[in-house]
Amino acid sequence: MKIPKILMAAVFTSGLAAGLYLANQEVALVSPVVAQSGQDKPATSPVKARDRDFYAPNSEDLGPDEMRVIACGTGMPTARPKQAATCFLLELGNGDKFLFDIGTGSAERVSALQIPYNYLDKVFLSHLHSDHFGDMDALFVGGALMGRQKPLRVWGPSGDTPERGTKYALDHLYKALTWDLDGRKGITDPRGYVPFEVTEFDYKGVNEIVYQENGVTIRSFPAIHALDGPVSYSVEWNGLKFVFGGDTYPNKWFAEYAKDADLAIHECFITVPALVEKFKFTPQGALSVGTQVHTAPEAFGKMMSIVKPRMAVAFHFFNDFDTAPDIEQRIRTTYDGPLSLATDYMVWNITKDEIRTRMMIFDEDVWPPQPSEEPQVPDPNLKIPNSEFILNGKYDMTDVIQPIYDETNEKYGLDEKQD
Ligand SMILES: [Zn+2]
Ligand SMILES: [Zn+2]
Repeated sequence: MKIPKILMAAVFTSGLAAGLYLANQEVALVSPVVAQSGQDKPATSPVKARDRDFYAPNSEDLGPDEMRVIACGTGMPTARPKQAATCFLLELGNGDKFLFDIGTGSAERVSALQIPYNYLDKVFLSHLHSDHFGDMDALFVGGALMGRQKPLRVWGPSGDTPERGTKYALDHLYKALTWDLDGRKGITDPRGYVPFEVTEFDYKGVNEIVYQENGVTIRSFPAIHALDGPVSYSVEWNGLKFVFGGDTYPNKWFAEYAKDADLAIHECFITVPALVEKFKFTPQGALSVGTQVHTAPEAFGKMMSIVKPRMAVAFHFFNDFDTAPDIEQRIRTTYDGPLSLATDYMVWNITKDEIRTRMMIFDEDVWPPQPSEEPQVPDPNLKIPNSEFILNGKYDMTDVIQPIYDETNEKYGLDEKQD
C-alpha cells in the first residue's frame, strides 16, 4: 500500500510507527499485535488506547517546550468550502496563543478548535487585504458572544498614508459595526465589545520588536506586495523560532530574518497555468499576479533553500489532487528540504527534537467553548429601546412566552419579567 509522502512524514514521526514498515519506499500496514508477536494472526484484539495519527482539539497537553501551529486558513480571496483565507494559530507551551491573520472564512476553523475566546485575544496582521483580515468582524463580535470578555488586541503595520494603516482600518471597521454593537447593549456581556486595542507599528521596521511579553519576542520585517505596508513576523520563544510571511514577492528581509526558523510559513502562489486555465485569468494577468505580486512556487523553493528552515510551509494556493503535484514539482526544482503543502486543519507540533505534521479531525457540530470566566449579567438599563412605532407592531405572544419565563425563573431561582 502506498502512502503519500506528506502522510508518510506524519506517520513516521508518530507513535504509530510501531505498526508500519518501510521497504523500498513503500509502506506496509501491519497490525501492531502481529508486528510484536511475529504470529500470523493476533492472539487478541488490541483494546488499549494507542497514539493517534491525527490531532483532535482538546485531546493533548502541549509540552512546556513545545509549539503547536494549526492552519485555520490556507486559501485565497476567492471563497471555497475546503480552504478559508489566510489564518494560522500559534500555541506555545507557556499557554500563550497568537493568531496570524484572520482571513475570510477562518473564524469558522478557529471555532472548531474549541479554545476559550479569552485566550484568542491577540491577532497579528500581515497586511490589510481582505483575505488576511476579512473575518475580523466574526472573531470580534462572534468571539465576544462566545466568551471573550476582554478587548481584542490587534498588531499590524502602518501604511504609506494614515488611511492605509491598520489603525484606520480597525477604527473604521468598529464604526461600520455601529448598528450591530448598539443593538447588543444591555442584552449581552459588554466586555468583549469595547474598541479594538490596536498597536500599529512602522511597516519599514526591519526586524524590530513589536511584541515582547512572557518570554515571547515577536519581530516584524517588510514584505513586498501590491502597495507599501505588508510585513512578515518572526516569533522567538524558548529557543524555538516560528516565522509567518505575509504576501510578498520574495524579499531580502525574509531571506535574512527567517533564517534558522524551526517552522517557516511563506506564501506560494498558484501556478500561472492554473491561473489561466482554472481561474480564467488572462496570461498577462496571471504572470503579473502569479509571479510579481506574489511568490511563484519556483521562487518559494529558492527562498527556502536560502532560509533552510526545519520545516518549510507553503500556502496561498488551492491545494487539490490536480494542483498539488505541479506545485510540488516546481518547488522541487529549487528546494529539496522538508516541506508541507498546507491545507486547512494541518497541524505541526514542534520541539527541538521533532516536528510532527498531522491533520486535525474535528466535530462539525461544535458549540461555543466553555468560557474561561463566568459571564456578566447585562444591565438592561443600557438597552437602546425600539421606537413606539416599531413596538406597536408587536403581535401579542405574552401568553405563550410566559411559561418560558416561569420555567426559567423556577430553574434558576430568578424573578424575570417580560418587557
Ligand atoms: Zn495580499
Ligand atoms: Zn493573500
